Amino acid sequence: MNSRSSKKNVFFIGLMILVLNSQAQTNNVKIEPINFSNVNVTDAFWKPKMDLVATKTLDACIYQTEEKTARIRNFEKVARKKGEAHEGVFYDDSDVFKALEAMAYAIKTSHDKKLETKADQWIDKIAAAQLEDGYLNTYYTLTGLDKRWTDMSMHEDYNAGHMIEAAVAYYDATGKRKFLDVVIKWANYFDSLFGPGKRDWVTGHQELELALVKLYRVTNDKKYLNLADWLLSERGKKLAKGYTWTDWKDTLYTQDQVPVKEQKDITGHAVRAMYLYTGAADVAAHTGDKDYVTAMRRVWEDVVYRNMYITGGIGSAGSNEGFTNDYDLPNEQAYCETCASVGMVFWNQRMNSLTGNAEYIDVLERSLYNGALDGLSLSGDRFFYGNPLASSGKNARKEWFGTACCPSNIARLIASLGNYIYGYSNGKFYVNLFVGSNTNIKVPNGDMQFTMATNYPWEGSMKCTLTMKKKVSLPIAFRIPGWANGIPAPGNLYSYENTIPDTKPIMLVNGKEVIYTIEDGYAIINQEWKNNDVVEYQLPMTIQKIKARDELLQDNGRVALQRGPIVYCIEGADNNGKAWNVIAPSNSVFTTENFSILDEKVVSLVANLPVVQINNDGLSAQTVMQKVRAIPYYTWCNRGNNAMQVWLPTSLKNEKINY
Ligand SMILES: [Zn+2]
Repeated sequence: MNSRSSKKNVFFIGLMILVLNSQAQTNNVKIEPINFSNVNVTDAFWKPKMDLVATKTLDACIYQTEEKTARIRNFEKVARKKGEAHEGVFYDDSDVFKALEAMAYAIKTSHDKKLETKADQWIDKIAAAQLEDGYLNTYYTLTGLDKRWTDMSMHEDYNAGHMIEAAVAYYDATGKRKFLDVVIKWANYFDSLFGPGKRDWVTGHQELELALVKLYRVTNDKKYLNLADWLLSERGKKLAKGYTWTDWKDTLYTQDQVPVKEQKDITGHAVRAMYLYTGAADVAAHTGDKDYVTAMRRVWEDVVYRNMYITGGIGSAGSNEGFTNDYDLPNEQAYCETCASVGMVFWNQRMNSLTGNAEYIDVLERSLYNGALDGLSLSGDRFFYGNPLASSGKNARKEWFGTACCPSNIARLIASLGNYIYGYSNGKFYVNLFVGSNTNIKVPNGDMQFTMATNYPWEGSMKCTLTMKKKVSLPIAFRIPGWANGIPAPGNLYSYENTIPDTKPIMLVNGKEVIYTIEDGYAIINQEWKNNDVVEYQLPMTIQKIKARDELLQDNGRVALQRGPIVYCIEGADNNGKAWNVIAPSNSVFTTENFSILDEKVVSLVANLPVVQINNDGLSAQTVMQKVRAIPYYTWCNRGNNAMQVWLPTSLKNEKINY
C-alpha cells in the first residue's frame, strides 16, 4: 500500500469513528461523558499512574498471561486442534481480554507501538481459536463442546462479554476491525441460540449485558441492544440451570431472586451486582426504560446508605465475595474486592449520566481514590485482591492471583481515566473530576478548548483556561463534592464527629469572585466567554473527622480521617511498627505535612496523640504522647507488610486496642 492510499484510509477510519461515536448519543441521558479519546490527561497525580499502568502493570499482566500461566497458550491449543488439555480455570480467557482492553486504552493515549504489536499478536491467536459457528471459549473447546451452554455458572457469557469490551476498545483505539469482526461473529452466533422464542439464558456472572450495549454503540446494530435488554429480563424468573456450586443455589448470590426492575436490596456477589446495574443503566440510557432507573436508585441507596465502607469499598464478606446484612462492615475482615470498587466507578458514572446528579460522582470519586486505587501498588506490579480497612500486618500485595480478575481491572480503569472527568450535554459543560487535563468541545459557533490545571487531590484549587476563536455563551458546571458542602457521604451512614466543617466552594472568573447557582450538586456559572478567560474553582481542603452510624458496630467509638477525596490510615511503617495502639481523642488536632511514600509525594496528616505502650514488666501499659502520622489509605502496604488502621479509637475505653 502506498503512503497516499494509507493516508486516505486513516482519514476514512477517523471519519468512521467520529460517525460511530456520534451514534452513541442518546436523548435519555442528562450528562454524556466525554470519551477519554478526547481528553488529554496531564495531571500530576494521575498521569504518572497512567504511565505506570501502560508500562509496569501491563508488563506484569502480559508476563503472567503469556509466560507464567497458560492463558494465551490455551488459545494456541484450540487453534492447533490436536486435542491438548486445557490448563487453568474456565474463566481465565477473561483475563486475556481485560488486559487487551487496558492495552487498547494505553495504546490510544501513549501511541506505544510495541504494545500494539503485542495486542495484534494476541488478537491473531484469539481469532484463530474461533470456531466456524462463531463460538469462542478455550475451556469448552478443549474439554468438550457437547457441554457448552449447559451450565450458566461457567462464565461462557462473562468471558465473551470481556472479549466484546476489549474488541470495542481496540477498534476505538486503532481503527483495526479484525477483533471487532470476531466479536460480531460471536454475538450473532449467541443471538442465533438465545432470545425471545429461542432458548432462555441467565448470565451466571453478569458482564455480557453491558458489553452488548458497547457493541451496539459501535455497530449501531439494534439487535445487540435488544439482546442486552432481553438478558436483563431473564433474571428473577428462576430460569437458571446447571448451577453446580452449592452456593449458587442461593439466587441472591447472582441477583436472580426477583426481576431486575423489582429489586430493592443489594445482595450477593458484589462484582456481579455492579456489572448488572451498569448494564441495566446502559440499556436504560438507550431505551429510556424508567423502571430500571427507579429500581437502581432503590438498590443504590441500599448500597450507599447501609453497605458501603468509608473507602468506597463494597462487599464485606469473603464467603460470597459480597454483601451480607445491612450495616455489617467489619474492618479487618473487610473483603472489598478491587473489582467491586472498579464496578462502583462504572455504575456510578452511569447513574450520574442518567440522572444528571452529582452525588453519584461523589461516590465514584470515593471508590476511585480509595477502594479501587488501593488495589495497585505504587510500583505498579503488585496487587491487592481484597482491600481491608485494618490489618495486623499479615496482608501483602501479590504479583498475581489464581483468580486474576483484579490486576487487569484496575489497569483498564486507570488507563481509561479520561472517561470520567468531563461531560457535555444540552449545551452545558460538566466538570465531574478534578484532574489536570484538556479537552476540546464542539459549541454552537465553533470549538472551545477547556484546560484544567490543578494539584488535586492535595490542593483544592482548579485553574481552568478557556480557549476559542469566537465568543461562546455556555453554562459550565463544576461538581460540588459532598465533603466540600457539609455532606461526608450521601445518606447518613457517615457524619462529622464534632461539627460540620465550614466549607463552601468559591468560584472566580478572571480573578474576581462570582456568584454561582447550584443545581443537582453542581456549581454553575453561565455567561458569555471570550478567548483566554480563566475560571478558578476552589474547594476547601479541610481535615475532616468522620464517624459512622451507631449500627456500624465495628466503628463504634472511632473516627476516620478524610481530606478532600482521600481517606487516611495509620500504618506501622510511620509509627514505630504499630497502628493499633493509637488513640485519636475528640479534641485531637491534625495538621497537614508534605510526605513521601517511596516516590509518591503525598499530603500526610500529623497530630500529637496518646499512644499505648507496654511497660517493661510486660503486663502493665501506659499512655504516652507521640507524633503520629496518617497517610493516604491507597498508599499503605508499599513499604513491607505493616499493621494498619483506618478507624481510630477515640478513647482507651474502646476494645481492640492492641499494643
Ligand atoms: Zn477482582
